[in-house]
Amino acid sequence: AEPGSTAEAQHSRTPPYLNPRVPTAQRVSDLLGRMTPAEKFGQMTQAERGSVDADPTRITDLNLGSLLSGGGSTPASNTPSAWADMVDGYQAHALATRLHIPLLYGVDSVHGHGNLVGATIFPHNIGMGATRDPRLVAEAEHITATETRATGPQWVFAPCVCVARDDRWGRTYESFGEDPALVQRMESAIDGFQGTRTKDLARPDRVLATVKHYAGDGDTTYGTSTTNTYTLDQGVTRTSHQRFAAVDLAPYVTAVQVHHVGSVMPSYSSVQWTDVPGSTPVKMSASKELLTDVLKGKIGFDGFLISDWDAISQLPGDFATQVRTSVNAGMDMFMQPYNAPQFEQTLAAEVQAGRVPMARIDDAVSRILRAKFELGLFEHPYTNRANIDTVGSPAHRAVARRAVAESQVLLKNDRHTLPLKPSQRIYVAGVNANDLGNQAGGWTVTWQGQSGNNAFPGTTILQGIQHEAKDVTYSADATAPTTGHDVGIVVVGETPYAEGVGDVGNGGHTLNLSATDRANIDRVCSAISTCLVLDVAGRPQIITDQLPKADAFVMSWLPGSEGDGVADVLFGKRPFTGKLPVTWPRSEAQEPINIGDAHYDPLFPYGYGLTTRR
Ligand code: BGC
Repeated sequence: AEPGSTAEAQHSRTPPYLNPRVPTAQRVSDLLGRMTPAEKFGQMTQAERGSVDADPTRITDLNLGSLLSGGGSTPASNTPSAWADMVDGYQAHALATRLHIPLLYGVDSVHGHGNLVGATIFPHNIGMGATRDPRLVAEAEHITATETRATGPQWVFAPCVCVARDDRWGRTYESFGEDPALVQRMESAIDGFQGTRTKDLARPDRVLATVKHYAGDGDTTYGTSTTNTYTLDQGVTRTSHQRFAAVDLAPYVTAVQVHHVGSVMPSYSSVQWTDVPGSTPVKMSASKELLTDVLKGKIGFDGFLISDWDAISQLPGDFATQVRTSVNAGMDMFMQPYNAPQFEQTLAAEVQAGRVPMARIDDAVSRILRAKFELGLFEHPYTNRANIDTVGSPAHRAVARRAVAESQVLLKNDRHTLPLKPSQRIYVAGVNANDLGNQAGGWTVTWQGQSGNNAFPGTTILQGIQHEAKDVTYSADATAPTTGHDVGIVVVGETPYAEGVGDVGNGGHTLNLSATDRANIDRVCSAISTCLVLDVAGRPQIITDQLPKADAFVMSWLPGSEGDGVADVLFGKRPFTGKLPVTWPRSEAQEPINIGDAHYDPLFPYGYGLTTRR
C-alpha cells in the first residue's frame, strides 16, 4: 500500500499475526503475546470430535486447539462433502474465539484416507516396504494428502516409522519393515504428505505429517503371557542407548533432519536401559531425556509433540501428576478421549501452583501455532474443496493398483506356474479371495477394519482374476475342486485387527495359518495338479509344512482396495519385483527373528523375492 493511503492505514491496524507478509516466527510471538493462559491451555488440547459433536460451542468456550477423528470416528454420512462440512462446522466455532485461532483437524490416514468411504485405499505400509520404491511411496502419500485435505483434515497421524522387530506385534503391518535403513528410505512418505514443509503446507494437496510412535514401539520384548494383548503393543523396549539409537531412533533423525516432519507422536511403550544400572521402564510420554533432550535437543525437532490417545493417563500417579510429568517432559498437545478428565483445567492448576513453568507452555503453544501458520489456516481456515472430486478417482486408484502390483512378493514358483495364462481354467478358493474388508485390514472405514465389509469401492482379488481369465470358478470354502481345472488358487490369511497383537479373544491371531486355511490348501493342492497359494495378511504366517504342497506361493500383504493389482502380476501384465521387508520365520518360536541375528535360519531371509519377466 502507498504510504499514507487508506489501505496502509487499515493495514497498520491489522495485528501482525494476521498479516501473511510478516515472517512466521514474528506472527507466532505476536499472537502468543496476546493470549491469556486459558487460551494457551486450550491450544494444547485435542478433543475427540465425538465429545464436542452434541455441543460444538465447547470448541469456543474451551478455546480448543485441535480435534481428531479417533480410530473410525466419522460423520454420520461418510461422504467427502459430509467430511468437509463437518470439519468446517467445527472450524466456525474455533473462529468464534476472541483471537480467531483456527482449529487443526487430525485423522489417521495410515493407508489412504481410510476412514472415508470412497477414498483410495493403498496397501498397508508393510506392502509399501516390499516395493522398495520410495518414489511410489511419496506419490501414494501425496494422493492421500490430497484426498484428506480436500475433505477437511489438514493433519494426518502418519507415517508410522516403527521398525517392526517381532511379527507377533499387532502393528507389524503399519511398519515399512524390520530394517531401520529401509524405514528411513521410505520416509519419502513425509515429503508426499507435506511437500516442502515451509513452502507447500498451505496448498490444498498437502497435510501436516506425524511420525509415530516415538520410539521403539516395534522393538518391545515379548513376555510369557500369550493372552495379554499389550505384552508387545505398549510394552517395554529393553535395550542399550547405542542399539536404541541404531534401530529405533534412526528413522526419527531422518524424519526431522532430512524431511522436516511437522509433528511426532510419542509411543505408549516404555524404555528400559540395559546399559544403565538399576534402570526401570519409563513410559515414552514421561521421558524428558527422550522427548526434550534427545528429540527436541540433539536431533533438533522444531515441530510439536502430540500425545497418543489418552497416553498421559497411563503414567504413574494421579491425573495432575500425569499431566505435569508429561508436559514437563516435553509433550506439547494432549489427545483427549471422550470422557477424560479435563486436561486444560488440570494443566491450569499445575501452572498456577508453579509446578509447570509458563516458559514450557509458551514453547508448546509456539510450536502448535507455527504449524497453523505454515498450513495457511489463518488465511484459509475453511476447506479448499478444489480437489474433492479426485477422491477415489480412477487416476488415484491406478496408482494404488500399481502399488499393489509392486508390493507382491513371489516366494516360490516351481514349474513356471506364474505367470498364469488367461486361457487357463482357474479354480479359486478361500474367503480372503473375495473380501474387501479382509484385503484392506485394520484402519479401514472403522478402526479395527471389518471382515465382509464390501461396502466401499474397490475390486477383490477374485474380481481381479475374473477380469483377466474367462473360466474362473470360485468357492469360498473350497468345496468340490475337480480335475476340470488347470490351476487352483488358494487364498489364505488373516482377518482385520488394529493395535494389540491381533484378535486374541476370537481364537487367535497367532502367526499360524487357521485350520480352515490349512484344509483348503490340502484339498485344492491335492485335487488340482497346479496349485498356487496367496497369503493376504499383515505379517508372515507359519507355512513351513504347507509350502511343499504348493507349486507357487505369493505374499500379498494387505493390498487395500485394488485387487486388480494382484491379478496384474499373477497374469504377467507386470513383473513380480517385491522383496520381503521382514524376515519370514520357520516357526513362531523363532520370533523375534531379524536380519543381522547371530543364528539366522529363517524360512525366507529378509530381502527375498523371486522375479518374473513381463
Ligand atoms: C493409536 C495411534 C492413533 C491414535 C488416534 C491410538 O490408539 O495408537 O496410532 O494415531 O489412536 O486414532
